[in-house]
Amino acid sequence: MSKKSNVLLIYTGGTIGMIKDFETGALKAFDFDDLLKHVPELKLLEHHIDTYSFEKPMDSSNMNPKHFRLIAEVIEENYKKYDGFVVLHGSDTMSYSASALSFMLENLAKPVILTGSQLPIGDLRTDAKENLITAIQLAGLKQNNKMVITEVGLYFEYKLYRGNRSSKVNSEHFKAFDSPNYPPLVISGINLKVNYPLLKKSKVKKDLIVHKTLEDNILVLKLFPGINEQTIQQVLSIKTLKGIVLETYGTGNASNEDWFINILAQTIKRGIPIVNITQCNGGGVSMGKYETSTRLKEIGVISGKDLTTEAAVTKMMYLLPQNLMPKVFKTIFETSLRGEME
Ligand code: ASP
Repeated sequence: MSKKSNVLLIYTGGTIGMIKDFETGALKAFDFDDLLKHVPELKLLEHHIDTYSFEKPMDSSNMNPKHFRLIAEVIEENYKKYDGFVVLHGSDTMSYSASALSFMLENLAKPVILTGSQLPIGDLRTDAKENLITAIQLAGLKQNNKMVITEVGLYFEYKLYRGNRSSKVNSEHFKAFDSPNYPPLVISGINLKVNYPLLKKSKVKKDLIVHKTLEDNILVLKLFPGINEQTIQQVLSIKTLKGIVLETYGTGNASNEDWFINILAQTIKRGIPIVNITQCNGGGVSMGKYETSTRLKEIGVISGKDLTTEAAVTKMMYLLPQNLMPKVFKTIFETSLRGEME
């Protein structure tokens, strides 16, 4: 294996490749070839780069599981041919796609690095070039003839995060992402400083398995003081509902009034799993620590531990179609599958 890697650059859209519409002034996606013209530096990279573009580049706010699947399939079809993959993606929902891909790509042994930017690549002050160039370097990075990164990462503003630990935290700063419960895997300065002990260890070689069926009949319910019985009752009785991510307070606390606990208990009895995650930006859930979470534990609410909302949602989407018995579902949900939780 030479130092030079083959990297496939997959363009889905996002600000990185947008221009201002003359009439409305709003940002919209433009052609991939135009985007590449703005980065002549790509020719200077040691790696060989091929490109693949979504037919219609999109704002990531329009992403859904069909698009996660499309990205996963491009990776699957090209898995043998390339050493690493870079996915250019809008920043708004990038952490959802990164989390989803981490679950969909079982036994991944090559880097899949998502990146994008806060300013279009044609803008004088753009952050796109550094993000793109370093993402490609990370996707091609080898040590002792082996790929250094063997998981789904998200690179933004000098840091590579584990994808399923990341969240978009700022809509205007160049530092738009964070990974509150897991340190960055790589920090880019004069050198790329790889935090080796934090990387996913590539275990015994197994073939890549791509899980393509995701369930989207799920709901994120964020509690707030004053949310009432009628609202919760109505929402949880939606017939098509298959799973709920419940965003609670602090270490997983919620009202312990009877009406609230009863609605949740009935929902779980209907076979709809409820996962408890915290509304806080950092830390996780520890049910039973306070009286206000003890009953949640008793009725069988699943602990989302220190999952981000993005990882909880996509883990739910990934696990539901596997038709597991409720107890098995709970055990697997509470187990770290791709380094997404403690
Ligand atoms: N709305 C854009 C998107 O997510 C924002 C961005 O790319 O930064 O596609």
